[in-house]
Amino acid sequence: MQQIIELFPPLVGAVIDITDVPDQVFSSKMLGAGIAIDPLENKIYAPISGVIKSVHLAKHAITIECINSFDILIHIGLDSVNLKGKGFNIFVKDGDLVKSGQILGEFDLDYIALNAKSLISPIILLDFDAAYFSITNVAQKFSNLATPIMLVTQYKQKNKPIINKSTNLITSEVITIQNSHGIHARPAAILSAIARNYAGDVLIEKNGKRANLKSIISILELSIEYKDKIQILASTENEIKAILEAINKSANKIEILKEEVLTSNKSLPKKIIDNKYFGISASDGLTSGKLIKIKRMQFEIKEKSTNISVEKNRFETALDKAKKDIEYHLSTNNQTQDLIQSNIMTAHLQIVTDPQIIGEVFDLISEGKTAEFALQTIINAHCQILEKTKNQLIIERQSDLRDVENRVLSVMPNVVKKETVNLNNENLPTILLADDLLPSDLLNLNKNIVGLVSVKGGVTSHVSIIAKMKKLPFLIGVDESILNLNENIDVVLNAEKGFLNTLPSKDELIEVEASLKKTEEQQKVNLRYRDKIAATIDGITINCLGNIGSLIEANDVLYSGADGVGLFRTEFIFLDRSSAPSIRQQEQIYESIANKLNDKPFMIRILDGGGDKAINYLNIPHEDNPALGLRGIRLCLEYKELLVNQLTAILRVFQKEKIAKNIKIMLPMVATIEEYCVVKEIINQIKEDLNILITPPLGIMVEVPSVALMSDVFAKEVDFFSIGTNDLTQYILAFDRNNSKVSDKLDHFHPAVIRAIGLVVKAAQLNKKPVSVCGLMASEKLAIPILIGLGVRELSMNLNNITDNKALISRLEHKKCEQIVSRCLNFSSSFEVRQLLSTEFAEELK
Ligand code: PEP
Ligand code: MG
Repeated sequence: MQQIIELFPPLVGAVIDITDVPDQVFSSKMLGAGIAIDPLENKIYAPISGVIKSVHLAKHAITIECINSFDILIHIGLDSVNLKGKGFNIFVKDGDLVKSGQILGEFDLDYIALNAKSLISPIILLDFDAAYFSITNVAQKFSNLATPIMLVTQYKQKNKPIINKSTNLITSEVITIQNSHGIHARPAAILSAIARNYAGDVLIEKNGKRANLKSIISILELSIEYKDKIQILASTENEIKAILEAINKSANKIEILKEEVLTSNKSLPKKIIDNKYFGISASDGLTSGKLIKIKRMQFEIKEKSTNISVEKNRFETALDKAKKDIEYHLSTNNQTQDLIQSNIMTAHLQIVTDPQIIGEVFDLISEGKTAEFALQTIINAHCQILEKTKNQLIIERQSDLRDVENRVLSVMPNVVKKETVNLNNENLPTILLADDLLPSDLLNLNKNIVGLVSVKGGVTSHVSIIAKMKKLPFLIGVDESILNLNENIDVVLNAEKGFLNTLPSKDELIEVEASLKKTEEQQKVNLRYRDKIAATIDGITINCLGNIGSLIEANDVLYSGADGVGLFRTEFIFLDRSSAPSIRQQEQIYESIANKLNDKPFMIRILDGGGDKAINYLNIPHEDNPALGLRGIRLCLEYKELLVNQLTAILRVFQKEKIAKNIKIMLPMVATIEEYCVVKEIINQIKEDLNILITPPLGIMVEVPSVALMSDVFAKEVDFFSIGTNDLTQYILAFDRNNSKVSDKLDHFHPAVIRAIGLVVKAAQLNKKPVSVCGLMASEKLAIPILIGLGVRELSMNLNNITDNKALISRLEHKKCEQIVSRCLNFSSSFEVRQLLSTEFAEELK
């Protein structure tokens, strides 16, 4: 039986193909196959558990022998042997046992970059016997400690895992699950990957029930939720310690990967009214087309076999083929758009190699069943167990199991197919209907598929995630009688309002078509406004800036038509890692964005961590009310080193006058004037330390009612305001923006919010301080007349909305906006505000 061995990146940095390494010894694979990383951090981690075979005298190279009998060479830099150990500090020695993820040493990035040929560091698999192993590189641009960088498939037969029967295991202390959505599919995939680094049994126990930690499906079946208490069982204390450490290290990843649960626990309404099937929108949009039902591959399943070893062989061959297909998919993924698909495929790879499932199928085959019968029976059984967990996130994983089942059955030698798949009917716009859609159904869809409808499914399922990514309207939870409808009928799918109309009038069809055409044409026309300064009919110019959260998004700023960056959410460079980015790493990021922007404005928001953006390596104690706890600037002042480092990095870039004169610094979640003053003092101190003459303007986000109410006082101190309407609305109305039960009441059109914005704008104007709006409201068409009417002259919005909003602004009259706003201020509800805006600006909004 084959096994997948996961190799985690030993370095954090940009991933480079081994053939692109500027050193022929490595690029020609003379030493062996592998990958290279251009490091951004100075730590070296063990990519797998094993024994240190050698630490080179010059300390630049470490070789680890892993239990699977191949060696891994980590070679820091090129020609770095010439440094004779200078710049390296290695903590391990020959013969040391190391665990995956353990820090092996560190090095001086600057010194090596300046004194060696290159910092690019090859990671090579030595003594690698292709007869026993094959390697797949996991497509990724930047390595991430919690995601494997290479998958090694070992073809040698392994012993069948022992499940739940182990007696001589040591039990860990009790651990309370802090991951707010419990251990659902992707965290389970991470846990099983960690456990698979150990040869012996590794179990997880909840309420006296044990499961194999190497099996993603067994973990899911325990239905581990937030605050549940679990224990880990393994052969030695050291193993437990290492597993717990690895779990802690991955905790950030586990939390980050939490699924969107906005509506996951809503039960599905089953309603049909006047030929309209109502359901839940899993991906918004309006479209029309021919309704086609998916005909999935059907197999003839015989129960009894005549030859056990033939059946085992058939199963192994099919598993092998399915696995290779998935690996192929992973290796050919286009990196940017398919990151989500890669995650899904990686989870499927875990299922195909799940020791629990494989073991159980083998058991059934040994009892005289055919391979296909055994597989189907075991998958059915596991789907039923998942169904019983009553945890929507886990229940939705059934489609992944079914998908893998289909994949394996379809490549099983001599399997008899009854019917074939029918996904890509003709070239006419088509809406696919299914009882349940599977992720693989969506991976290779034809362009003529314009919408999706299914009876089963969930808004958090992988299918829904892919549908959103592909911008395909998707309605789930419709009544199952829909499956009896005739195919090829014309339907209208309105996933915005949550229905499928199976008997649309001719006029309705024409209307949808016209609306789609109009949107498309409008977008083309709006492109004319992309590079222009936005101005109202009566000549008021509005700066349209963009919100970004990463270096990658910064590439799109100029193309989007943005007049600069009005909000760089820097917290995203602090999340999903095991430690904070260094000053140098941050400096590189800020400098590179400033370079891309030329002399356009660049508003850097200081780390807005805490709340729903947990930074796990800070180990912040549990807060009962995180939205009112250590968030934003409060967190920065509590962990001052983080703040000082970030400000130092920004000021260092600001020092480079030519590229960065337009940098501004903005503080998130300020509630008191003291917070602002303390940060100002810190900046002055850094200014002295760096010996610079001036510092960038320092402003604050207006997100807390105290600041809005006292904006006249704040306006005398701060250099500018930027109104964060997302949080300002949450705190003014006291509806938690992360609580699905109340977040639908959160409406920035509420007159209280509009009044608050008005107060801030007035205070800013009186004190001649700039004011912008950077919350979601600034991206929303209906809100733009209000903001302009209130006197806002700078909006920072999603990059996708900039061109369309510039076009809208050119149709607005500033005087009219002012008049409408004065009426809105006296309304008592957001409904009235929305209604007035929609009627008064109907023409302009078209
Ligand atoms: C806001 O609160 O409006 C804002 C822009 O900040 P974030 O959405 O990142 O909290
Ligand atoms: Mg905010």
